[in-house]
Amino acid sequence: MTTPDLPPPPAASSPAVRAVMQGNRSRDTRPEAAVRSALHRAGLRFRKHVRPLPGLRCEADVVFARQKVALFVDGCFWHGCPVHGKTPKGNRLYWSAKIARNVARDQRNDAALAGAGWVVVRAWEHEDPAEVVSRVQFALAAA
Ligand SMILES: [Zn+2]
Repeated sequence: MTTPDLPPPPAASSPAVRAVMQGNRSRDTRPEAAVRSALHRAGLRFRKHVRPLPGLRCEADVVFARQKVALFVDGCFWHGCPVHGKTPKGNRLYWSAKIARNVARDQRNDAALAGAGWVVVRAWEHEDPAEVVSRVQFALAAA
């Protein structure tokens, strides 16, 4: 081969990547739903998919408005999980830049929420829901 191949378009780099992306794009991901059920079983009441701050374009997965606790169940792929957040082999620069932007945005949102008196709980989608529930209970008790 005399000329290098052009990289394939990001969305088509592999069926596995596409499946991960589609899975992470939906609002009601399975890990998030599992966490919500666990919260319900623990007797907690909350709202889902709301913006904690009116002026901030940031929707939390679960919100305890009275205690000002916001829970985010972060997808391992999009939010750069240290365990599973490997960037795909194809288009590595594209993906690492995109995921780095997401991580930076998460940090800005966390700072904005904390500045407004909110407690932010972030969980990875790979975490045991029971573990997430105890972190949330801890945050609620401290609130
Ligand atoms: Zn993970």
